[in-house]
Amino acid sequence: MALRLYNTLTRTKEAFAPIDPAHVRMYVCGPTVYDFAHIGNARPIIVFDVLYRLLRLVYGQQSVTYVRNITDVDDKINARAAERGITIRELTDQTNAVFQADVKALGCLEPDVQPRATEHIVEMRDLIEKLVQKGFAYVAEEHVLFSPAAMDSARGKLPRYGALANRSLDEMIAGARVDVAPYKREATDFVLWKPSKAGEPSWPSPCGIASEGRPGWHIECSAMSWKRLIADFAGKISCEAADANVFDIHGGGIDLVFPHHENEIAQSCCALDAPRMANVWMHNGFLQVEGEKMSKSLGNFITINELLTSTSFGGRKWHGDVLRLAMLRTHYRQPIDWTVKALEEAEKTLDVWYAQVGESAGEGEVAPAVREALEDDLNTVAAIAELHKLTDTKSLKASANLFGLLQLTQSQWLALKQADLDIDPAEIDQLIADRLAARAAKNWAESDRIRDLLAAKGVALKDGKDGTTWEVKR
Ligand code: AMP
Ligand code: ZN
Repeated sequence: MALRLYNTLTRTKEAFAPIDPAHVRMYVCGPTVYDFAHIGNARPIIVFDVLYRLLRLVYGQQSVTYVRNITDVDDKINARAAERGITIRELTDQTNAVFQADVKALGCLEPDVQPRATEHIVEMRDLIEKLVQKGFAYVAEEHVLFSPAAMDSARGKLPRYGALANRSLDEMIAGARVDVAPYKREATDFVLWKPSKAGEPSWPSPCGIASEGRPGWHIECSAMSWKRLIADFAGKISCEAADANVFDIHGGGIDLVFPHHENEIAQSCCALDAPRMANVWMHNGFLQVEGEKMSKSLGNFITINELLTSTSFGGRKWHGDVLRLAMLRTHYRQPIDWTVKALEEAEKTLDVWYAQVGESAGEGEVAPAVREALEDDLNTVAAIAELHKLTDTKSLKASANLFGLLQLTQSQWLALKQADLDIDPAEIDQLIADRLAARAAKNWAESDRIRDLLAAKGVALKDGKDGTTWEVKR
């Protein structure tokens, strides 16, 4: 079976065919690096990492270019840097370093390119000037604004504004807020460029605006995807003329469909005379806590870093593979509930798989049934069910590797789990000796107390005829 992906644009699952059959180009909206990323932010990172791995398997390791941007210009970044008394570059460098380490611990491959917004200001200005020259944007009070209404009246081969989000422009105009900024002609116009206030980062403005300014939110992704997936491939991609400014896959969380992705499409298509920005638009569902989206603003978040290194979720640390498997046990388009129970179940599954693969080094083939399940719009649920059926250890290892899982041997896995215990083995041995003494004295209460104390620390005791042994049980 060939690869099929659900396309938000057409609301159907479609057979995937890259524009250039020899090379796939994918762009995913990355993090705004002002603070630790929460585990909800990790969902698109993990989901699109699985897609990246699958594309590399289907089309060849060197035949996929995955671009995930780093948003390092943003109001939250300015505010946080000021609060901490450091420069914006210091803040974004520090936050980015933690982010990179976190997602590596989650088993994600590095994308081929991770462009930073602040390093693509020239491309942003270039697109903005094209938009003004073509009449899709205008300058007002040192701002540059994009006009969806202008796009709508030009139409021709341009897509309809609102097609991705499935909204009509008339409805949007009717539903727009009343307190619209005075420099906007229409309530639906959005900012491409704006003046910087004192202390904010600023760059020379486009369109002859005298004062310095900074980009609006959406233009950076149009600029970076164009530079990294279109301009950098000039002469290297074979495609129809109409597809010259189109790339294959664009991804992100479902909350980005509107306005972010709708506006990216508007900017890119209008500036580049393109009928589409990307062929396939993929969106992951929300990671939820008690039915609500996990987000910084709701305060119901837990960071990737806390899960990996602290005991603030479920009273213990979690290995990156556990977080990753827990994430992939739900199909990427469904909402996912983040619970301790789900993490415990994921860990048990990994224990079973590691026991099965033991010390085997790999070199196996991905099981066809696992690959087919993933090729069906990343059906990780079905693929995991197939993993459970595999009896050939080499094939299990290779197939789980396609998920970014089971990269260790069993002894490495067990050693890691032991190292994560907040009790050292000498102390465990001492407690076992104390318990034996208590039992010899028929002090059952003390014996039970010690067993429970160890259980609370994740150590399970086993009494056998050769004495008492212990194992990590979580
Ligand atoms: P942000 O830093 O808020 O721009 O988000 C970065 C990425 O994480 C975007 O693709 C969002 O759609 C995604 N995202 C944010 N919160 C969640 C969540 N609770 N569940 C799934 N994805 C999310
Ligand atoms: Zn974006």
